[in-house]
Amino acid sequence: MALYGAAAAVLRELERGRGGVKSLVYNSGFPHVRQLYALVSETLRYSPVLEKLLDGAALLQAEKKLPPQLAKVLVYDLLFGKGLKCGGRWKALARRHRARLQAELARLKVQHRVSRNEDLLAPAASPAASQVPRYVRVNTLKTCVDDVVDFFKRQGYSYLGKAASVEELRALSGKKFLLDLHLPELLVFPPQTDFHDNVLYTSGHIILQDKASCLPAFLLSPAPGSHVIDACAAPGNKTSHLAAILQNKGQIFAFDVDTKRLATMNTMLMRAGVTAFQLAQQDFLTVDPTDPKYRKVTHILLDPSCSGSGMVTRLPQEEAAPSAERLRALAGFQRKALSHALSFPALQRLVYSTCSLHQEENEAVVEAVLRDHGSAFRLVNTFPSWPCRGLAAFPGAKSCLRASPATTLTQGFFVAVLERHRDRDAASSSVPAAAENPQSTEGTEPGAAPKKRKRKKQKVKE
Ligand code: SAM
Repeated sequence: MALYGAAAAVLRELERGRGGVKSLVYNSGFPHVRQLYALVSETLRYSPVLEKLLDGAALLQAEKKLPPQLAKVLVYDLLFGKGLKCGGRWKALARRHRARLQAELARLKVQHRVSRNEDLLAPAASPAASQVPRYVRVNTLKTCVDDVVDFFKRQGYSYLGKAASVEELRALSGKKFLLDLHLPELLVFPPQTDFHDNVLYTSGHIILQDKASCLPAFLLSPAPGSHVIDACAAPGNKTSHLAAILQNKGQIFAFDVDTKRLATMNTMLMRAGVTAFQLAQQDFLTVDPTDPKYRKVTHILLDPSCSGSGMVTRLPQEEAAPSAERLRALAGFQRKALSHALSFPALQRLVYSTCSLHQEENEAVVEAVLRDHGSAFRLVNTFPSWPCRGLAAFPGAKSCLRASPATTLTQGFFVAVLERHRDRDAASSSVPAAAENPQSTEGTEPGAAPKKRKRKKQKVKE
């Protein structure tokens, strides 16, 4: 049962837009991640077929206590997988319906004029998705880029130096890797490279994080010693990136509502050597901005739940468009959370990000909130050389960043940087002077990186 239950839980989290398949599987706590990943991936691949079978056999009506995600996993394994090797009472339940389900499958094949199960499947995910490289963020709390480069060289990889263009990243193949052209601590390997079992990953020296998902902390870039809120933090990749930028100096207040994701996050932060953080299971909307505890909070990273429609390396079923009602609900929460974040009295700089492609969750949220807070905050024209900009939903929306497999070779993503109107000399962030000119529509180039800081090094043993 453990395997089927874990797979059903991953499917449920996916539907709620709480991450991609890989991250949810690896953060599930299930001991046999490969087995779980295979089952979840295959169930997703067959999902449209499974839905038809469940409908046709009226399984969910007959078994009211059977959660739909678990039903999909069981029926997948029964008809297309290994034939329910485990599963206890659920196995018995599914087997009771086997004849009916097999009859439905036969009917479906006749209807589609196919003889093989695979021929019932829709065409594969977009080719762009399979071209997204494997990005590896070097965790500078534990090591440095040079040591990690040496490590991979010793493992037989050839290091090609710093990439000059996205095309170079696209051309990567075999055992070769590059330093990213935009982010200073990001290494780039060919797509499908898997480092989940690599000692650098299991010891927290590297973080497997898509390039687009590294943008929020990089662009927030609080100076060491700052107090920072990570409002919707789990499973914590961006929190650990923030901690690395802060060099563990200062304080990160991280919130999330999901107990399981927080537990995973705690383990991940420990593994990554993050010390300066307080983790709370709390709805960010209920965090009191006037609490003296937060009086020094100058930076907020807000990466709220979203439709996840930009996560293109997910499988086809996950790309299904969210309903208008779900989008409205998500955008409502995102607007409230952004407004709430802007009410922290000492806030200077905020990054709002989503892995959604929908304007409703992105430019529209920023526009609506700036309508109320525009006298205090402005949208910063950040990272002008970044090729993919916000949709022209309102004047100035091009100051926002977008990311996509086609343009930036990343997951689909959206980032907006807001800054309090202020005297620039009073800035406490290390980025603005180098990264952008908030008042200019042209902006200035980041010089790709925040100020060089001394990094604590720790040699990595193979
Ligand atoms: N920033 C995370 C990272 O990089 O690992 C990913 C965050 S994920 C997109 C959104 C998170 O928001 C989920 O973990 C979800 O549980 C959390 N969440 C949803 N509603 C929330 C709320 N009202 N307050 C705090 N967290 C919330």
